[in-house]
Amino acid sequence: MLFLKRCSGWLTVAVCFGSLAAALMPTVALAAVEAEASSVTSTDARNSVERLRWLRAEISRHDELYFKKAAPEISDAEYDRLKREMLALEKAFPDEPRAPTGATTSFGDDRNGRFSNYRHREPMLGLEKAYSRAELRAFHSRLEGALGRTDLIFVVEPKFDGIAISVTYEGGRLVRAVTRGNGQEGDDVTANVSTIAELPRELRALSLEGVRNPIPDTVELRGEVYLDYAEFDRINRERIEAGDEPFGHPRNLAAGTLKQKDPDDVAKRGLRVVFFGIGAWQGATKDRPDSQQALHALVRAWGLPGIGAFEMAANADDAWAAVERLGARRTALGFPTDGAVVKLDAFAGQRRLGTSEDAPRWAIAYKFQPERVTTRLRSITLQVGRTGVITPVAELDPVRIGGASISRATLHNAAEIARRDLRIGDFVFVEKAGEIIPAITGVDLSRRTPDAAPFAFPVGCPSCGTTLLRAEDEAATRCPNGRCVAQVRRRIEHFAAPAGVGINGLGPVQIEALVNANKVSSVTDLYRLRREDAVSERILTEIERSKRADLGRFIFGLGIPGIGRKTAEALATRHGSLAILAKARDAELTDATRGLMAELVALGVNPQAGVKMTRSGPGPLAGKTVVLTGSLKGWSRAEAAKRITAVGGRTTTSVSRRTDWVVAGEGAGAKLDEARVLGVPVIDEAELLRLLQESQAGE
Ligand SMILES: [Zn+2]
Repeated sequence: MLFLKRCSGWLTVAVCFGSLAAALMPTVALAAVEAEASSVTSTDARNSVERLRWLRAEISRHDELYFKKAAPEISDAEYDRLKREMLALEKAFPDEPRAPTGATTSFGDDRNGRFSNYRHREPMLGLEKAYSRAELRAFHSRLEGALGRTDLIFVVEPKFDGIAISVTYEGGRLVRAVTRGNGQEGDDVTANVSTIAELPRELRALSLEGVRNPIPDTVELRGEVYLDYAEFDRINRERIEAGDEPFGHPRNLAAGTLKQKDPDDVAKRGLRVVFFGIGAWQGATKDRPDSQQALHALVRAWGLPGIGAFEMAANADDAWAAVERLGARRTALGFPTDGAVVKLDAFAGQRRLGTSEDAPRWAIAYKFQPERVTTRLRSITLQVGRTGVITPVAELDPVRIGGASISRATLHNAAEIARRDLRIGDFVFVEKAGEIIPAITGVDLSRRTPDAAPFAFPVGCPSCGTTLLRAEDEAATRCPNGRCVAQVRRRIEHFAAPAGVGINGLGPVQIEALVNANKVSSVTDLYRLRREDAVSERILTEIERSKRADLGRFIFGLGIPGIGRKTAEALATRHGSLAILAKARDAELTDATRGLMAELVALGVNPQAGVKMTRSGPGPLAGKTVVLTGSLKGWSRAEAAKRITAVGGRTTTSVSRRTDWVVAGEGAGAKLDEARVLGVPVIDEAELLRLLQESQAGE
């Protein structure tokens, strides 16, 4: 449900279209509810009770979508609004029975029935939430009152936006990883969590400073599994290059990934984990940390990933200042965060305060306010994909949100537009919380003018004019014309992209020129290009080189229906070369596919399986401008800069439109933001290493 503008095959601007749930609800003004129900009339009361029942059903439906299916329809901010309205109504109507759903906790239940369940030794709770400075203050006063002192120390941590996890170590060895589930028992996802590279199998017995660490018989470590922005961007770039719809939110992708059946699939996505809490602790009792601060230190001493960006606060004002600092920095943190958690530091105090039904009384999560703007829907245009799928795109009056200018948003498909009753000229809400993808969350019906026009889905393809088709059983509308110029361009882009064969210098602009000049109407035509076709020597060399590309990537690049990356790799391994594959009888190969392959072989194209990309010309970093930001794991920034220079690239300290790549290390900051705003591709350390290796391979 999002639109991604492509620029040389890279992800630049993304907008997601959230649900218009607000427009579909029975209307009772939230303000009226919050003004308290003491003065309501009987009609109001009846409406409010109806509203409460509706809210409960709606919230339980959203819980199901969020926790079980990892496919939320509404933004967190919208969900929180519904939830707060429900809580206010529950207070006003305490006699109303609670909804007969499982949603009795603030965190639902993430179990999906496909994993064995495992019972936590200590329950895994949620967090009470605060939305204002006043609520944070009230939390402090409550704690001061309960503990009878005012010199309380607090820890303020970023709230990671991922999936809660409990990892058990026995005698220092990793034995189990379990999701929160319903708080009492969760899904056993040990095999999947074990693929996380930064998660050690054993706790370090000696810290780096040579201090002996306590190793309890059993310890349940509580934390969060998440995807950082660099990995999220990488995965989406590959999706786009493969012609698939990119993912909307790193948390949902992380949740979906964690619940994959095959750990090999999990390993392909660089999930991360961070620890910031303890459940059960058995043995080595006297070594148990006695404060949140000590726990953070122990987590790091054990060699586990911990929170680096926490702050200590001695009073409510300090805590608020720390929360605000985190809020200001949150988009630069490199990982998704949707708030700050304020915790009482001393465990003794924590024990005295205890827990409520579903949350500890000694911690509170302040949720950052999402940025929300309103803008006008100017028009709806249609994009034609590689396979002919037509995607309607909302063209918006440009509006700045989360530091980026947004002017387009995908509308997914025709049914989506109808369901939302979107009209040209409408004012729509765009919201952005911690995530990188702003969501359009509604239509401002109060500003709809009589001339706001419903959108009539065009009959013909915007590129070739062919009558569009919509199959009964699918939402997508397609252009059935295989020779459609837009489709041809997308197919060649897919082939030439880094995820395919990777033809340097042959980007969307060059491809468009070649297609428009009738020089190329298919991938095979690339191998018929001559100098006379006004193609640069460099591109011809690259095309020549691609004749000996890796077979798996080559087959994938052809974009044959039903042959994704996995199948392409399998076919490559099985047959070894395109010449052999062209004569093979595998079920995936149609006569047309074999014909295409034979045609390529006749043109001298014969990629082989297992080819390491080598080059004759300059490497991928030659002439490229790279900005390094954040700290790198394997080397210092100076060292990395030296290696980039050695292969013909250069590094600069500031990001501009002329920057080719921003390499984001741990804790990457403002430069990462700038890169996103300017649409400069962001790569991680592993990708930089790959580029360096590839650069050296040709020397
Ligand atoms: Zn067409």
